[in-house]
Amino acid sequence: MKVTVDKEKCIGCGACASIEPSVFSISPDDGKSEANADSCTSEECIENCKEAASVCPVGAIVIE
Ligand code: SF4
Repeated sequence: MKVTVDKEKCIGCGACASIEPSVFSISPDDGKSEANADSCTSEECIENCKEAASVCPVGAIVIE
């Protein structure tokens, strides 16, 4: 699974990072979310990523 955040869309609300902090983090440089799903292999983590994508208010999270 690959998770990416469209930084052009992200408004830095932090919702994704609070749902799955092992994948999403807010960059101190631009205040926007970054995703790293390399260690996200459990069913719970994958479900959380999908939830984050569905709650993101601007639809910035893409899961492939
Ligand atoms: S939920 Fe969406 S808008 Fe909010 S920080 Fe995450 S990617 Fe950005």
